[in-house]
Amino acid sequence: MLSVSAMLIALPAGAQVCAGTPPPIEADGRVLGHLPYGDAPPDELVAVPADVAVRGCVLRRDVLPDLQRLFAAAAVSPEVGGRVLALSCHRSLTRQGGVFCREPATDADTRAVSVAPPGHSEHATGFALDFAFRPRVNGCPDTEACVAATPAFRWLRANAPRYGFEMSFPVSNVQRVKWEPWHWRWVGTSAGVPGAARARRLFATARRRFPASPGVDNAVVIADVPAPPVYLSLPAFAEPKGKRRRRR
Ligand SMILES: [Zn+2]
Repeated sequence: MLSVSAMLIALPAGAQVCAGTPPPIEADGRVLGHLPYGDAPPDELVAVPADVAVRGCVLRRDVLPDLQRLFAAAAVSPEVGGRVLALSCHRSLTRQGGVFCREPATDADTRAVSVAPPGHSEHATGFALDFAFRPRVNGCPDTEACVAATPAFRWLRANAPRYGFEMSFPVSNVQRVKWEPWHWRWVGTSAGVPGAARARRLFATARRRFPASPGVDNAVVIADVPAPPVYLSLPAFAEPKGKRRRRR
C-alpha cells in the first residue's frame, strides 16, 4: 500500500503544463526548479478564521493550532506595527494551474521563478501559506520582496520558527527559486507535534537539499519590484554570483 506521501507525489499526467511542450522533468523530479507535490486530501483541510485571512483560505487541520497561536502573538506584539494575515493557503492542482498559466505570453521558465507549476507547489500540500503584512510599505504588492521592509514581516521572520514555520525560499536559496519572504511552510516545532511528522516527510527532500532559513539579515537592495526600491539594512549584502536573481 502506498504511503500518504507517496500518494501525494503521484501526479496526474500532464499536470505540469499549460499548453504546448511540457517542460522537462529533472532527474530529481523537479520541474522548472520546483519539487513534486500532490494535492492534500480534502477532508483534512479546514478554514482559516476569516478575521485573520485576506480572503477565504484553507489549510491542513494540523497547521491551525500553531497558526492561530502565531496570529494571536502578532496581534499583541507592538513590534508588528500592524497586522500579519493569511493571504493564500491551500491551492488545488486546478487552482495552481490557473495561477501558473495566467500569463500565457510569458515563457514557463520565467513564470516558474515566482510560481510553481501545478503538481509542484507547496501550496497543494495544505501545509504552506503566503502571509500578507499590513499596512503596506510604499505600496509594495503582497508578493514582492519589498514586503520584507515591513515591521510585520520582521516580526514574522524572528518569531515564525517558534510556531513551527520555516521560510521555504530564502535569499540565495540553492534551489534557485525567487526569494519569497511571504511564503512559509509548517513543519511543527518538533516531529512529535500532531501532523508535523507528515509535513516533514513531505518536505524531506526540500529540507535536506534546500534548507529553509530566513537568511535575510544582510539583504540590502531589493530590485525588480514595481514599488520604489527598498533598503533594508547595511552593510551591503554580498550576493553570491547568479544565485539570487532570476533563474534562467
Ligand atoms: Zn506561496
